[in-house]
Amino acid sequence: MINDRGSWLVACRKCAQHFAFDLRNPMESYSADCVIVERFDDDVGPYTGNAPRPGASAVYQLDMNPDEPRFELDAFAIFKCAKTGEDLEAAAFLALGKSWLRVADGRAQAANQMLARSQLPAVEHAVFAVDVPCSCGEPHRAIFYHAFRLDGSDMPPLDDLLLADVSGTDLTDVLTGVLSKTDVMQALEKLIARWRLFSDQILLATPFVAHQWKTKAERLAIWERLLAQLDPSRTMLMTRGATFKEYRAALIEFGLDHDMLSRFGLENRIVGDGKRKQDSHAKVYMGLGDTCEVLSGSANVVKGGSMENITFQALRRAKVETSYLTPLGISLPEPRPRLSHHLLIDCRDGEWRWNIMSGAAPKV
Ligand SMILES: [Zn+2]
Ligand SMILES: [Zn+2]
Repeated sequence: MINDRGSWLVACRKCAQHFAFDLRNPMESYSADCVIVERFDDDVGPYTGNAPRPGASAVYQLDMNPDEPRFELDAFAIFKCAKTGEDLEAAAFLALGKSWLRVADGRAQAANQMLARSQLPAVEHAVFAVDVPCSCGEPHRAIFYHAFRLDGSDMPPLDDLLLADVSGTDLTDVLTGVLSKTDVMQALEKLIARWRLFSDQILLATPFVAHQWKTKAERLAIWERLLAQLDPSRTMLMTRGATFKEYRAALIEFGLDHDMLSRFGLENRIVGDGKRKQDSHAKVYMGLGDTCEVLSGSANVVKGGSMENITFQALRRAKVETSYLTPLGISLPEPRPRLSHHLLIDCRDGEWRWNIMSGAAPKV
């Protein structure tokens, strides 16, 4: 009974409209995205109704909004000692790993206290600060975090924490110059992880996402990797209409109709809400807040070996408005308000402790 062919009759969770999907293993597969009204095995009794068929075979496997940012240790390093150039990222994970049991204990205590004492303010992130040794002799302080929910969920594994900052490093130095496309994209992924903690909003303005010469499978992979890194409620993607259409073409190539996806509520919100501007060739990626960080240069969102010129700057908000947002014709929507506090777990005098600190994120 492996690879039986068949169909599902499904109902949209929002409007209850029925659709028919053809797929393999109709009896064993499952879906969290729609209500399965009835399953049909072609050998037993195929579906003969006339519900519309999107021609999709992969909907039940695709997670269009994974929103699971990752910090890839193997990728291009952005946190390097400003004095020695030493890569501090692996050392930071190692330093936190050494104290992992006490760190996890501090987080569990905090979660229990927050559940027990309802007057404690809500937090969006659990933040971990740890000293990182370096051959320069100065201690570096690394900031890790994860999205914090008071639902009794366990601390994620160390590999799933995001590294947002290391003191005594110089992003402007590391991210200004000529880098390969792949290095730029890997750096951008790490910056997005950083901006998700420190910034109110993220703006990605790029005329091209993936290149014409890539296969549709590769293009879709680039889109999905990018979208997984982003929080739809805080991100603006500004790209050319043709680029947006290419994304839809890649989806359709995989049997997923964009309009069908939006009817199912599956369409990725970041792309759906993206501002589309035809006449801009600017490639600008920024984390926006009272102070902003801007990565800009010649790189579109695509990986590859060719070289790109890139610049990183920390700028005041007013400068970003005048020099970037106004010329690009962007008026940003109000960001979803951030919570007023964060949970900080750090080590002082050899003791790991937890505190509810003011501000959505620590000051760096
Ligand atoms: Zn619907
Ligand atoms: Zn150092």
